[in-house]
Amino acid sequence: ISSVELTEHYLQRIEQHDSQLNSFITVTPELAREQAKAADARLAAGDATALTGIPLAHKDVFCTQGVRTSCGSKMLDNFVAPYESTVTARFNAAGAVTLGKTNMDEFAMGSSTESSFYGPVCNPWNAEHVPGGSSGGSAAAVAARLCAAATGTDTGGSIRQPAGFTALTGLKPTYGRISRWGMIAYASSLDQGGPMARSAEDCALLLQSMAGFDPQDSTSVDHPVDDYTSGLNGSIKGLRIGLPKEYFASGLDSATAAAIEAACQQFRALGAEVQEISLPNAELAIPAYYVIAPAEASSNLSRFDGVRFGYRCEDPADLTDLYKRSRAEGFGAEVKRRIMVGAYALSAGYYDAYYLQAQKIRRLIKNDFMAAYEQVDVILCPTSPTPAFRIGEKIDDPVSLYLTDIYTITANLAGVPGIALPAGFTNGLPIGMQLLGPYFSEAHLLNIAHQYQ
Ligand code: GLN
Repeated sequence: ISSVELTEHYLQRIEQHDSQLNSFITVTPELAREQAKAADARLAAGDATALTGIPLAHKDVFCTQGVRTSCGSKMLDNFVAPYESTVTARFNAAGAVTLGKTNMDEFAMGSSTESSFYGPVCNPWNAEHVPGGSSGGSAAAVAARLCAAATGTDTGGSIRQPAGFTALTGLKPTYGRISRWGMIAYASSLDQGGPMARSAEDCALLLQSMAGFDPQDSTSVDHPVDDYTSGLNGSIKGLRIGLPKEYFASGLDSATAAAIEAACQQFRALGAEVQEISLPNAELAIPAYYVIAPAEASSNLSRFDGVRFGYRCEDPADLTDLYKRSRAEGFGAEVKRRIMVGAYALSAGYYDAYYLQAQKIRRLIKNDFMAAYEQVDVILCPTSPTPAFRIGEKIDDPVSLYLTDIYTITANLAGVPGIALPAGFTNGLPIGMQLLGPYFSEAHLLNIAHQYQ
């Protein structure tokens, strides 16, 4: 099959099904057709990579030159990026095709994709339920086969949780593995891009393009990039898997707990050993994260002032009025909540009580992981306490939504990588689980997930 045919197939599926799902904010058929033609020429010339001609979708947090990049916000509804993010530039260089930009929680703040200015996304497994978030558009698009694979970003779980809610495989790499250049910042010390796909093997192919040092991102790490596909078939005999006992306490849905238990049986059958471990500070992760992430967001989002780009209010009386009304009208409720919480936590007199304490907890959580990796090779746990909840169910109670991030945010606070993979179904809804590993263990995590699948 040619890339042109494959691209037409996906464009047609988007046309047919996305009015129900709302997984795309912007579809780019012209760009896709042009790239598909170029890819076919490359394939014919024998100058192809594994991704040449493969139709992908990108979370609308990645700047794409000449294509609207909204970040799910009214603030950037009219923003056409003047430059290309490193991640999408690498996919373009590999010859991949861009089908469009996917829906997301506004500025990636959320766990359900309900905070998007463009409306909520439906879970393809059950349209009354959320697909997770904030990369919910990417998750729904891949799960509904509207694209071959997609990009996401994970600040506190936004790749792994939606992957879990839609039966996909999604990888949050080590902090610094993938360049953040051109990825609109939410919480810079936590944000990391990564692949969302139908299998570990597909994630490996995408990661191969995405990973690598980028001098344009000062937090990009100059660490050699592994060959992510060559080791996929390695045996996992003798692999030591740790189950954090704190994660199997109250609040965990019984079907999810049973699915993890069944996964343990399968891992044992593959030769792995499963043992209990402890992450003693895990319960402090949510309060620490919901101070640190908003603090960084309040600083990052100060650039949206109505002056240089993005939304500007009508007829401002003066500069202060322009700032105030542009931000009041351009940002949604959740984004404003985060900016206020963050600005409060960073303000004089409260900095030591909140931000500094949260940073100390962050260090303790990182130390917990380092201690755990002395005992085991990887950690296995659910991606969220329950399967996908109903659209609207948690919309009036932000704290109940924040609490659903309990299993995912620790990896971001520690900077370690994690891969989410399907663990079964309950009442027709997918159950997700994740494997967390030491820094730069992406190749090993992909290998383990591939063996399991
Ligand atoms: N749900 C978390 C938040 O709202 C994580 C979001 C993300 O990873 N981008 O901050």
